[in-house]
Amino acid sequence: MSPAIQTDVDLAPLTTLGVPARAAHYCAAGSEDEIRAALDWAHSRDLPVLVLGGGSNMVFVDDYAGLVLQPLLRGRALVGESDSHYLVRVGAGERWHDAVEWTLAQGWPGLENLALIPGNVGAAPIQNIGAYGLELTDRFHSLEALNRRTGERVTLDRAACRFGYRDSVFKHPDGRDLIVLSVCFALPKVWLPMTGYRDITEELAARHIDTPAPRDIFDAVIAVRQRKLPDPAVVGNVGSFFKNPVVDAATHAQLQAGHPKLVSHPQTDGRFKLAAGWLIDQAGWKGKALGAARVHPAQALVLTNPGGARGADIMALAQAIRRDVQAQFGVALEPEPIVVGALDEQ
Ligand SMILES: Cc1cc2nc3c(=O)[nH]c(=O)nc-3n(C[C@H](O)[C@H](O)[C@H](O)COP(=O)(O)OP(=O)(O)OC[C@H]3O[C@@H](n4cnc5c(N)ncnc54)[C@H](O)[C@@H]3O)c2cc1C
Repeated sequence: MSPAIQTDVDLAPLTTLGVPARAAHYCAAGSEDEIRAALDWAHSRDLPVLVLGGGSNMVFVDDYAGLVLQPLLRGRALVGESDSHYLVRVGAGERWHDAVEWTLAQGWPGLENLALIPGNVGAAPIQNIGAYGLELTDRFHSLEALNRRTGERVTLDRAACRFGYRDSVFKHPDGRDLIVLSVCFALPKVWLPMTGYRDITEELAARHIDTPAPRDIFDAVIAVRQRKLPDPAVVGNVGSFFKNPVVDAATHAQLQAGHPKLVSHPQTDGRFKLAAGWLIDQAGWKGKALGAARVHPAQALVLTNPGGARGADIMALAQAIRRDVQAQFGVALEPEPIVVGALDEQ
């Protein structure tokens, strides 16, 4: 069955930043067949196709002249188990947070540190989402994807996804044609709490919980996130706007000598991850506005659209922050979200 293709669609309500942008064409595809039909429709008209999930990691600086395709495949099921793991498959169009909560309710914990991350399951592998000491790759088994150029359906295991820090094969030329249809998680039968992050430890202590159950961590993560991050339903944002830069040991030592309070975390490869939020704060941007865009007062890593900002305003603010952090620390900040439109080379 052919899916409905809509024309001249407002994208602001389909994204968490809520800046104005329109799609020349838009299609919500509920099945693989509908995705294929929508791709055929676009190809026959020579139109580019942009895949959209929950729109929580996208900045539109322009209207989109092609087809915006939103895979909304549903479904979640236990598809197998080994001595050590449950294998759980979830459709790309399921909301990420709902999937996390559902796995917990089934008695298959392991994703609770990633609670309340906005967006859909299909987008989670794209930047290998992570929070509070856990990354998607830690619970990943495989995924099903459709190659939009060849029409081939493929299965990718963890190695094939080449997960890195906010990175995967899907952000590189050999993976860009893949549309994720479903993700299969490997959830450990022997569950261990991951409470290494100070925010979580403190939240559990405040709740007088010494031996947390998975649900306790889920609740603690939600409480911390609600306190620290702006709710996109209230203030438009895409979460962290910049990746935490990773520098070599010599650069780190040099920076630390000049800035004894530098916030950083050692990596297993000897390098150091710098807290981008701290750098932005030190550069004086926390809570500041430039035009209609603003840096969140409680978390300098989050750029917001308090109302009335355009994508270009957000990118101008990002550019000013990058310039000042570069001047003060000699460190280049790299944007985390996908920028769609003419300014994406900024
Ligand atoms: C308040 C807030 C907090 C956040 N916190 C975190 C956090 O803690 N950790 C973190 O990692 N991220 C975080 N994010 C960023 C964001 O939620 C994640 O990156 C999320 O996975 C994006 O999902 P989405 O469905 O909204 O993707 P979208 O923004 O719609 O798309 C993101 C990218 O994925 C591609 N894509 C989407 N679906 C598919 C698919 N089915 N197949 C192929 N490609 C696809 C898109 O083309 C685009 O390139 C946060 C965002 C917000 C607003």
